[in-house]
Amino acid sequence: MPKTEQFQWYTEQFAPTEIHAHAVDETYYAGRTPFQSVAVLRTPVFGKMLVLDGDTQSSQNDEKIYHESLIHPAMASVDDRTDVLILGGGEGATLREVLRDPAVRRCTMVDIDGEVVELAKRFLPEWSAGAFDDPRARLIIGDALRFINEDGDRYGVVISDLTEPLPDSPSFPLFNGDVFRDIKRRLAPGGVYVLQASTAGFHNMALHAKMARSLRRHFRHVRSFYTHVPAFDNDWAFIACSDDVDAAFTDPARIDAYVGSLRGENWFYDAETHRRLFALPRYLRAELAKD
Ligand code: SAM
Repeated sequence: MPKTEQFQWYTEQFAPTEIHAHAVDETYYAGRTPFQSVAVLRTPVFGKMLVLDGDTQSSQNDEKIYHESLIHPAMASVDDRTDVLILGGGEGATLREVLRDPAVRRCTMVDIDGEVVELAKRFLPEWSAGAFDDPRARLIIGDALRFINEDGDRYGVVISDLTEPLPDSPSFPLFNGDVFRDIKRRLAPGGVYVLQASTAGFHNMALHAKMARSLRRHFRHVRSFYTHVPAFDNDWAFIACSDDVDAAFTDPARIDAYVGSLRGENWFYDAETHRRLFALPRYLRAELAKD
């Protein structure tokens, strides 16, 4: 068995009192953009990894768990998926998953950091798998906060795939109650807003519950769901919000039809996985029930 001293280590400061470590086989890139620090690494267990501001964003070997969970439960629940909006989404895997749906005619992705998008195209092409070249893709490099206030269009699905809302991150203002109201204005009737909503693990599940509480002030149906993401070494949570659609109760036959209509095969998500994603343990339901 190789000794730990034989490796270089990437340590993720997951919380002030929580550090996760991965051995590093190779560092493809390490630098800074005007918005964040960026590292592209390869680890023995998870393959290539994108790390922003010291925080793992996704890994080659399990990114489909995160991305299929973020996108497909919402998409499967919406009738009109012609026009879809992604806030953030740097690696292009969210764009890839949306564009697998032939019902989508246009997918707009707004990411603040053009350098992250270019680095992902260069070092992580498996993530976008050609999605940036799809004629239905509209990539806008800019602040999603500004975009949602200036853009006049309405979308069947709005997907927030932003970095964690730490106070010095450019994503922080997008997790604010008033902004949730502005995002709702971008939804078409029958539309769903879905967001990556931090960890459902013990050390910071209160942040997730706070987001859900804030969303409940604006949307009739606010449904938390989660799954374990091995590269994050944690249970990752998402929230689907709508005035019209309760994504927790999407008909399994409808999900089967949706999954069957996608180009290529899903790796993680289907009707059974949908049921599992929305089945929350009692302790998490208790946290979410707090005022
Ligand atoms: N899976 C991720 C995670 O674990 O948090 C999120 C993935 S994605 C790489 C996050 C993207 O959000 C980054 O590319 C970052 O540039 C983008 N971002 C952060 N703040 C933003 C803002 N205000 N407007 C648009 N994009 C933003």
